Amino acid sequence: MQEIWTIQALVEWTTNRFAREGFEHPRLEAEVLLAHVLDADRVHLYVNYHQPVNQEERQRFRELVHRRLQGQPVAYLVGYREFYSLRFEVGPGVLVPRPETELLVDVVLDLAGRGEPSHCIADVGTGSGAIAVTLARHLPRSSLWAIDLSAPALDIAQRNIARHGVEERVTLLHGDLLEPLEKRGLALDMVVANLPYVPSAEASELGKGLLRYEPRVALDGGHDGLALYRRLIPQAGRMLVPGGYLVVEIDHRQGQAMLGLLQEFSEVSVLPDLTGRDRVVVARKGGAESADPLLQGRPPLP
Ligand code: GLN
Repeated sequence: MQEIWTIQALVEWTTNRFAREGFEHPRLEAEVLLAHVLDADRVHLYVNYHQPVNQEERQRFRELVHRRLQGQPVAYLVGYREFYSLRFEVGPGVLVPRPETELLVDVVLDLAGRGEPSHCIADVGTGSGAIAVTLARHLPRSSLWAIDLSAPALDIAQRNIARHGVEERVTLLHGDLLEPLEKRGLALDMVVANLPYVPSAEASELGKGLLRYEPRVALDGGHDGLALYRRLIPQAGRMLVPGGYLVVEIDHRQGQAMLGLLQEFSEVSVLPDLTGRDRVVVARKGGAESADPLLQGRPPLP
C-alpha cells in the first residue's frame, strides 16, 4: 500500500530525524521548513494537519531537510528570521540574529525610556540590521547609525531597513567600528554593539561544526574574544555625551574582563540573560552633571 504523506506525517518524521541529530528545536525547525515550502504560516500546518502534501512539495521539502541536516541554518534556507517579533531577511553574508540578543534590545529600550526622547544611537557591527531596525521601530523619535565593515551585510541591512520603513531614521555606514562617525565629529547618546566575541580558537572549532555556514568574521573576536571591544571602548568613550551609555553583548565568561576594560566609565553593570548567564554589559560615561538633559534623571541600573 502506498503511504500517504500528510502534513502531520512529514512534521513528525522530520522532527524525529532532527531530534536524533541533536538539534535544539527539532519540531519548530521542521514546521518552519514545511510552512515555507507550502508558502503558509505555521498555523496553517495545524489547521490542515491531515491534508496530504503533493509530490512536488515533498520533493522541495526533502531538499531543504537535506540541507538542514548538512548544517545550514534554517534561517538561511527560508531566507528570514524573526527577531523581537519582526521579520528580518538573512543570508549567508550575515550572522543569524540570536534570541539572546533580544536582551540587548530590552536593555537599550529601558535606558532610552521607551519612545520618549530623541536619542542619537550607533549600532556597531549591525550585520542584518536587526538591532538598529528594532530600536528604530520602538524609539520613533530616535535616529540611528548602523555601521558594518562587511559589504554583503550592508546590502541585507539596507533591505531590512526599507522593509520596516525606517529609512529616514537609520543611516547605514561602511567602516570599522565607530571610525566613520568619529570622522564626522558627532556626539552619541548611546553606542550599542553585538560584535564578534567568540575566542578565535573556539570560533574555528564552531566554524567546522555547528556554525560552519555563518560568516567567521561575525563571530571571531580574537584570542580572548575581546579584541574588537578593546578597540571600541575608547572610541565610545570619546564619542558618547557625558552620561551616555555603551551597551554590548558578551560571552558569559567575559563579564569580569569587561569590567577591567571599562574603568574609564563611571557606572558599569553586567546583566544576565534568561539562562542566568552574563550576557550584556552596560557602561555609563561619567560627567552627567554637565550633560545632555535627555539622559539625566534616569534611575541607576539594577
Ligand atoms: N552568540 C553567538 C554565538 O555563539 C556569537 C555572537 C557574537 O560573536 N557576537 O553563536
